[in-house]
Amino acid sequence: MRLLAVQDVYKTYNVDPPVRALKGINFELQMGERVVVLGKSGSGKSTFLNIIGLLDQATTGTVEFLGNDTGALSRRELDQLRADSLGFVFQENHVLGHRTVIENLHVKLGVSSVPTAQWPHRIEQVLEQVGLGHRKHSHARLLSGGEKQRLAVARAIITSPKVVLADEPTGNLDDENASRVLDLFDTQAQLGSAIVIITHDPRMVARVDRALRLEDGRLVDLDSQEPQR
Ligand code: ADP
Ligand code: MG
Repeated sequence: MRLLAVQDVYKTYNVDPPVRALKGINFELQMGERVVVLGKSGSGKSTFLNIIGLLDQATTGTVEFLGNDTGALSRRELDQLRADSLGFVFQENHVLGHRTVIENLHVKLGVSSVPTAQWPHRIEQVLEQVGLGHRKHSHARLLSGGEKQRLAVARAIITSPKVVLADEPTGNLDDENASRVLDLFDTQAQLGSAIVIITHDPRMVARVDRALRLEDGRLVDLDSQEPQR
């Protein structure tokens, strides 16, 4: 099943002089698929992630998400779609340090459509999955770097999103913790979520189904080495 379809997307930042960050992107994402997007700094990776994550809008072109033409949705509809159907993990984990592990998860559940009655079960399940069951009442600032990032993953997947988007999710982690985070993504893909990982680490290519590279605002398929048409 197709979750996402991006067609002829261009993105220009209207600064002086204007920056053409994406120059004709075509991209599709299927259920359960794991994709890596490589690319040098400044090639447009974060811009691409922000657009497929419905955090920013294309200058021209279309983004279809779960059958919706996202350009036709209101701000509120976009926010709800993002809260329910997308999960984000960033290099800087953005966990709320002064809140407990459980409270961090409440924040995400609070903007989602998950009924309150389901929260305790979901929290229990996801903390078990990421190995933080014993830290649920700890303040997030007291967690190690690896634990914080696992909390960020827990927060991203607790709504069972159709798509998980990760921007350099292992950039601040040692090999062992990085591997744990990637294992969590694998599990989530087996549960049916699609995973898009932005990274500059070519070693990740071996761990996914498909690898692409952004080169100066254009997507290149790493298998064929041909720019997409
Ligand atoms: P990457 O994540 O691959 O490093 P980005 O998507 O962040 O690349 O940036 C692509 C290009 O767009 C770069 O030239 C960057 O300077 C520019 N850019 C990114 N965000 C903005 C912005 N908000 N305003 C102006 N230029 C931006
Ligand atoms: Mg970036």
